[in-house]
Amino acid sequence: MPELPEVETIKNELYGNVVGRHITSITIDDPKPVQNPLDEFTRGVSGQKIEELYRRGKYLIFKLSNKKYLIIHLRMTGAVLFNPGKVGKYARVIFGLDDDNEMVFTDRRRLGIIRLTDNIADLEKKLGPEPLESVFTPAVLAKRLQGRKAPIKAVLLDQKVIAGVGNMYADEALFASKIHPLRETGKLNKREIGRLYDAIVSVLKEAVANKGASVDTYQRPDGAKGTAHENFKVAHQRGAKCPRCGGKVERIVVRGRGTYLCPKCQKI
Ligand SMILES: [Zn+2]
Repeated sequence: MPELPEVETIKNELYGNVVGRHITSITIDDPKPVQNPLDEFTRGVSGQKIEELYRRGKYLIFKLSNKKYLIIHLRMTGAVLFNPGKVGKYARVIFGLDDDNEMVFTDRRRLGIIRLTDNIADLEKKLGPEPLESVFTPAVLAKRLQGRKAPIKAVLLDQKVIAGVGNMYADEALFASKIHPLRETGKLNKREIGRLYDAIVSVLKEAVANKGASVDTYQRPDGAKGTAHENFKVAHQRGAKCPRCGGKVERIVVRGRGTYLCPKCQKI
């Protein structure tokens, strides 16, 4: 499932190809991802210039010249491909651009979402700070974790606490900071929170540098894979040797989510 580094990579690699272009055609092969009435959506997007493209949390946001925002959330298997050539069977919505290039939203499991809105504040309300921006500091993290009874793994996945961290990078950050995923969040001490802060930032930065992790269906706009998963220490590594202590990486379930850890390095 695409998280911050994957969506950031897609944004970076689309940027120069789509910002400044007009959307001249829309083909909706599958209406399921589109959250607006289809005629309203088509009317609101057709002919508009893409003035800006940015990422917020796991959302990809296109700012259009009519002051509306085209928001894409990839969920499990969504992707945004640029000129894929042959349009595959999972293509759902195709945006034609004024230079004859195409941007294609594909989604095998059909859980992704596309929404056109003029109200970006509603999305903003649902999202915590961006972990790779200066608004995110150890003190901000400490404040957001304070007093929480839930296990730290679950809290890290809450997009209102920190935007963009998902299952893979939460596991990697907890391993790097030697914190057990089931630890009660409010009981982490200041040193542990400091380590966790450093780990979140460095794990995400490294993954962005490696263009995201292709453990599942994630692909970049040109169809290439990312390589961040090649550096994973615990995520999706059940049974592998812990690179720190030589013990065995295990998988547990925390609040319904598969969670990887080294129980020797991450004591409860
Ligand atoms: Zn270990």
